[in-house]
Amino acid sequence: MNAVLQQDLNDFENILNQAKEQGIAFLNNLEKIPTSTTKSIDPNRNLNSLGLGSLATLVEFKERLAPLMVASPGPRYLGFVTGGSTPASIVGDWLASVYDQNPQALKGQGGTSALIEFETIHLLLQLLDLPTTFSGGFVTGATMSNFTCLGVARQWFGAQSGKDFAKNGISETINILTATPHSSSVKTLAMLGIGSNNYTTIKTVEGNREAIDLIDLEKEIKNLNGKPFILISSAGTVNTADFDDFIAIAKLREKYKFWWHIDAAFGGFAAVSDKFKHLTVGWEGADSITIDCHKWLNVPYESAFFLVKKEHINLQVETFQNSNAPYLGNALENFNYLNVLPENSRRLRALPVWFSLIAYGKTGFQDIVENSVSLALQFGDALLEDGNYELLAPIRLNNVCFTLKGDYNQEKVGQFLTQVNERGNVFMTPTVYQNKKGIRASFVNWRTKEDDIKIIIEELKTVFKII
Ligand SMILES: *Cc1c(COP(=O)(O)O)cnc(C)c1O
Repeated sequence: MNAVLQQDLNDFENILNQAKEQGIAFLNNLEKIPTSTTKSIDPNRNLNSLGLGSLATLVEFKERLAPLMVASPGPRYLGFVTGGSTPASIVGDWLASVYDQNPQALKGQGGTSALIEFETIHLLLQLLDLPTTFSGGFVTGATMSNFTCLGVARQWFGAQSGKDFAKNGISETINILTATPHSSSVKTLAMLGIGSNNYTTIKTVEGNREAIDLIDLEKEIKNLNGKPFILISSAGTVNTADFDDFIAIAKLREKYKFWWHIDAAFGGFAAVSDKFKHLTVGWEGADSITIDCHKWLNVPYESAFFLVKKEHINLQVETFQNSNAPYLGNALENFNYLNVLPENSRRLRALPVWFSLIAYGKTGFQDIVENSVSLALQFGDALLEDGNYELLAPIRLNNVCFTLKGDYNQEKVGQFLTQVNERGNVFMTPTVYQNKKGIRASFVNWRTKEDDIKIIIEELKTVFKII
């Protein structure tokens, strides 16, 4: 063994303890660490011939790289839809690296850690009150989950006319209908060879809504003259957290033939709370659902899962079967993750989620969701009370979409937000909503408290005075 590796092996415990110290210093300081930075490094570092060993590398990390880290898992990072990491989720994530398993098959030789992934999906279905008619697995993010689900949808579409697109390529136009797709679904259409331009945009419900207009949807369905289609619907749009009417969509299935996909990346967690569960009623009728865990479940990146109805398992295997895989027989009985999703080798990505669900239970996540929504509403009230802001949409769940009051201030919105973000005490994302420049604050972090709202409002006041 190489001498440096041997030294590290002898010193393993000490090395991990030092890494823990480094981690604790960050986590205990999270409230004070800035949410943005202008620090940078020269990334053209030369590779050493002789390695430094882990301890010296930790020192270099601490000096050169750690200063680049912003408080994105902290309580006032409201940009995009960014969750933090709970203690249990970090334990699961660390141990996933330590145990370094490659979950694939449920039985047989060489490891059965896939059972842990199965159990975790089973726990998630209970958390979200979804039926066991879904099977699921972990991927890196909602983008890959959308890719997985829509990949199976693509195969389903071909099968409607006896074609196998996975084997032979796409040989006809795939009809996609959607109202307010997340940019990642559009990207997925590009990756799947469907084409990012090739979807029909359905109107949204009138009255400042992002949900699909069912009358326009049915009109476009009729234009297809009985041809099958794929519907991409939303459980939580990013700007205004709007939800499509799933009961009405489920009814359409009695009349028309379509694959129904729901992007519930963060909004799916509404189902955890009795207060917001009504938003997801009927979603169990979908063929596939995308949900992120690195957002509202507050586990570290990269964690998301897909749910696809078990009845579609053969289509799923046709789409993702590894060509080296042995004959499968019954794909559910001889289940192997390698055959149902994009990756072959993969880490035990379920473990952070497993730890989180066992550690905090349904109530833990219900409290996180309800606290986030309550804070979003408080933030909205505080903005209105301040008088210099207006909401661009009602606060339906955890996302607040607002702007500077008055059209004459539109040109200042960008500069205002840049300055707010630069100060590093809060981070929010610019957006455009209904042709207006706006700002989006998304509340999903388990650490955010009422005091943070006060700090954020003070930050906004300070910058408002100087722009
Ligand atoms: C965040 C998000 C995505 C993309 O998720 P990643 O985890 O960044 O890949 C997709 N859809 C919605 C609704 C989202 O909020």
